[in-house]
Parts: sequence; structure tokens; C-alpha cells
Amino acid sequence: MKEFKEYLDVAWEFHGHRCPAMPMDLRAGLAAMKALGVERSKDKELFVEAETGKGHA
Ligand SMILES: [Zn+2]
Repeated sequence: MKEFKEYLDVAWEFHGHRCPAMPMDLRAGLAAMKALGVERSKDKELFVEAETGKGHA
């Protein structure tokens, strides 16, 4: 399973700006994948719904 640093650059690019929320969400996603015993999905096989509230950080 890939680790946090391996995903960080592409995650910044995907998110569109630098903020404290994205790295926390990346860590949460990696922890969830580990807990579920799954790899990163392809072709929309795995979804997450996250509620972050105002300002998202
Ligand atoms: Zn952000």
C-alpha cells in the first residue's frame, strides 16, 4: 500500500490549493483503506462521503 508521501504531490494537484484540510483527509483516507484492507480503487469502485462544514478546515 502506498504511503502518505507517495500520494502528497498528486493530492495537492487534485485538491487545487494548499490548505490544512487536504493532508488530514489524505491521512484519513489512507487509514480507512488500511482498516478496510483495500487498495485505491479504479473506475469509481469505492466512494466516500465526507462532511466538513464551513471553511472545510
Ligand atoms: Zn482545501
